[in-house]
Amino acid sequence: MQTFSCRCGNPLFFENTHCLACQSEVGWCPVCTHIVALEPLPKGGYRCTHPSCGSALMKCQNYVLSNVCNRMVVMNDGYADTLCDCCRYNAMIPDLTINGNRERWAALEAAKRRLFYTLDLLALPHGTHGDNIRVPLSFSFMADALPDQGLWRSTASQEKVYTGHTNGHITINVKEADDVERERLRVDMNESHRTLIGHFRHEIGHYYWDLLVKERDEQACRQVFGDHTSPTYAEALEQYYHHGAPNDWSMRFISAYATMHPWEDFAETFAFYLDMVAVLDTALHMGLSRAEHDGSLDDMLRAFHQVGMAVNELNREMGLLDLAPRAIAPAVRDKLAYIHTLIENANA
Ligand SMILES: [Zn+2]
Ligand SMILES: [Zn+2]
Ligand SMILES: [Zn+2]
Ligand SMILES: [Zn+2]
Repeated sequence: MQTFSCRCGNPLFFENTHCLACQSEVGWCPVCTHIVALEPLPKGGYRCTHPSCGSALMKCQNYVLSNVCNRMVVMNDGYADTLCDCCRYNAMIPDLTINGNRERWAALEAAKRRLFYTLDLLALPHGTHGDNIRVPLSFSFMADALPDQGLWRSTASQEKVYTGHTNGHITINVKEADDVERERLRVDMNESHRTLIGHFRHEIGHYYWDLLVKERDEQACRQVFGDHTSPTYAEALEQYYHHGAPNDWSMRFISAYATMHPWEDFAETFAFYLDMVAVLDTALHMGLSRAEHDGSLDDMLRAFHQVGMAVNELNREMGLLDLAPRAIAPAVRDKLAYIHTLIENANA
């Protein structure tokens, strides 16, 4: 991610809705792809103040009504779409009559916008229902139907919301936006990280398996990640929750969870690839000269290692979690190479 600049010269950040220096309202202009100060127009709407843009814009409805978005839509002859290029992917949003759900939803949308920023940086194809795409992508942000406390009957399985992906539809349980709940789950599951952006990067990995690998490149993918048909996903899940990951998982996998099934291995490796691209992009914009790379996978891995080790030490200085693994096993590097080529070919 980069930082942006207000017309007053103050820096603006990707999540901003106001400039703290000049109080201008700000938003993401989809035409010049910057966070910009917004100049209100006399007949309604706004003008992008980026010197080379000046597009007529409206706020996304989720910006106006719920303040969970900071994106603009293009206005043509006074008309504009109601939802921005990120919010238009939503199939279901949380129940906003429940206390705290607006804040949870805002945190989910902020992570989703970062996801799309990285997908667009990589020129990865995506589209939703009504777009010309083989697998339409959509998101539902849902809460468990009943709170856990004070129940007079057990919670039936359909009332639990599982974070996951099915045929282009990504569901995320809104409790992942609660810091306490998410950290508890991270410790329970023995994960090195558990973040909202991480969930989006993992689930979009499943989406790209469906879009780019399924019935297209399955044979080659099987050579790298193993056979996804045997054992079946259900058998693998059962096995993993009974026995966990093998002790030597880091020799062959990017995470313990990746050992569960080839599909989870693919999604975890895909998520790591997106982590790396996003961190390198940010490091370059922030002037960390060590992040320079020529775009080849091994060069990216080297740059990510250098930045990662520096940030790990900074984090340890502040008592925070490590950013990057100390080493990437050769078998994991080969999986990343498959994903690197898959992404290159997807936008060729
Ligand atoms: Zn300003
Ligand atoms: Zn603009
Ligand atoms: Zn929006
Ligand atoms: Zn998964």
